[in-house]
Amino acid sequence: MASMAPEAIAQNIVATDLVARALELIPIPAAHLVLTGGQFDLFAMNRAYRLAGLGVVAERSPMIADLGPRIIAFLESQLIRSDFEWVLGDTIDCRYYRVTIARSFVALRDRCTISFVDQTSQIQTERSLRREMTTDSLTGLPNREGFEDLIEGEDRNANAVLAIDIDRFGRLNSCLGSLAGDELLITVARRIKGALRARDTLARIGGDQFGILMGIDSDREEAYALAQRIQRTLTTPFRLTDYEISVECSVGIAYGADEASDVAELIRHAQFAVKRAKVSGRAESYLPQDFAIARAQFSMETALRRAIENRELRLAYQPICDLATGRIVSFEALARWTDLQGQVHCPTNFIPVAEESGLIVPLGRWAIEEAAQTLAGWDARHGAHCGVKVAVNLSAIQLQRDDIAPVLSAALDSTGLTGDRFTLELTESAIVSDPDRIAGTMHALKALGTTLAMDDFGTGYSNLAYLQRLPIDVLKIDRSFVTGMLADRDKVSIVRAILSLAQALGMKTTAEGIETNELAQTLAALGCTFGQGYFYAKPLEAGAAYAMIGAGGDVSPFAPG
Ligand code: C2E
Ligand code: MG
Ligand code: MG
Repeated sequence: MASMAPEAIAQNIVATDLVARALELIPIPAAHLVLTGGQFDLFAMNRAYRLAGLGVVAERSPMIADLGPRIIAFLESQLIRSDFEWVLGDTIDCRYYRVTIARSFVALRDRCTISFVDQTSQIQTERSLRREMTTDSLTGLPNREGFEDLIEGEDRNANAVLAIDIDRFGRLNSCLGSLAGDELLITVARRIKGALRARDTLARIGGDQFGILMGIDSDREEAYALAQRIQRTLTTPFRLTDYEISVECSVGIAYGADEASDVAELIRHAQFAVKRAKVSGRAESYLPQDFAIARAQFSMETALRRAIENRELRLAYQPICDLATGRIVSFEALARWTDLQGQVHCPTNFIPVAEESGLIVPLGRWAIEEAAQTLAGWDARHGAHCGVKVAVNLSAIQLQRDDIAPVLSAALDSTGLTGDRFTLELTESAIVSDPDRIAGTMHALKALGTTLAMDDFGTGYSNLAYLQRLPIDVLKIDRSFVTGMLADRDKVSIVRAILSLAQALGMKTTAEGIETNELAQTLAALGCTFGQGYFYAKPLEAGAAYAMIGAGGDVSPFAPG
């Protein structure tokens, strides 16, 4: 059989453009062409007959432009079969085919079959699935996976990745409720977008974390400048439900040109830098030691989980005194944790980790049970009611996720204590989060006979309406107002205002952080009911705390006899 000249093939291929156009205009699931000695036969096409009347063959047909050279190359090769993907049409409306060119003998240099299998709908489904998988449904921004895809497509050396973490978002979210939290995230995304340059891209890479891919020409300072613009735009207050919100964020920067083995690691580096930015308050770029810090936080969660399971936590007890008489009325139970390596962790570090990881629920239950056991133990040693109560802290997240009243009730049952031996300390954020649910819990706790105290009062969201509606007995004035109060008129005014508010509402007051006798006396003179602080005692082991009650419970040097 005579071999066909490439020109002849090219000419003959013109005919196949009909097929191309048919494929384009009428989606045909599969088409099959046979090229024989200079002529194309078209057969075995489900709807091939529709090809008729499709019009004149275009001069520059995509079939000729694309497939012609490939068919010629195939015929001239030693191959029996060649498979490839072929895209027909422009990017918006294109169709995707799997093309197979085959022949039975290599010697047949002018005869082959060409099959087209339309894969358009399959590929489109895959693409829209991929799009869905890589888009954050709340903000419409690329999600973490989409962000990785984006970075993958860029020259890493010319780019930086910024990770932006909303400070205290968990707290805001639990205070405002998740719907308002969503709205907050959408607003934050819009604001950040407004601070970007046209060529920067924003993504949402975690619950409260955004990522930016930015081109860096030469000057790394550009990334810091962008970070500052973002911080400025977020601190401008905006309204959300009933609150004026101003959002603070921490920014970590990682440069593509620095060592990061892959895209995921580059993003992680920016996230590690965020952790340091949270401490310094400035935008920080990645340093190799950040990795070690991040690993330490992760291992803290693991170790804390184990410590709770193995009951390695302890409670320390700090006395709360009646300022008028100087007698101890209660002990606040404060969690203490020394890990297996002997390292002591502060509650201000591990309580937020417990809250973030949900470990606060078992931790909180344990604290209630442990405090009840200790108090019952003191009563037993005393031979009767030992004269004091215990105060246990409840975190906002714990109140949302757990049903506290039955937990306390069970602890009372197992120890034989009555509910009036317990004070529960809540923070303002707990109350604002889900007022109806929390009100229900508070009434259930009151029904057990407990005292309810509002902890750290003055630092939260100053919505005072709830104070009247909820069964709160005591306001604990935050330490930040008490420390240094004697040298600061503003602090004195705040403390006075809180005291008169409490008086008007029929509540008692506890001043936190009393470190000197002078402060204790001033607060007593101002009418504050109770006091707590290093002046009386630091948080103590249960045994040492009991010794204070045993000593008569009088810890104030100026107290009346
Ligand atoms: P808080 O409930 O406001 O507890 C008072 C904190 O102030 C304690 O810190 C206490 O040691 C400290 N403090 C008391 N008097 C003074 C003073 O005169 N000067 C100074 N500088 N500090 C004083 P601590 O034990 O580090 O606890 C910190 C916070 O951790 C607590 O603040 C509480 O919010 C939280 N926390 C501790 N234990 C638990 C717990 O079992 N559950 C929950 N949910 N939170 C806990
Ligand atoms: Mg407290
Ligand atoms: Mg407090």
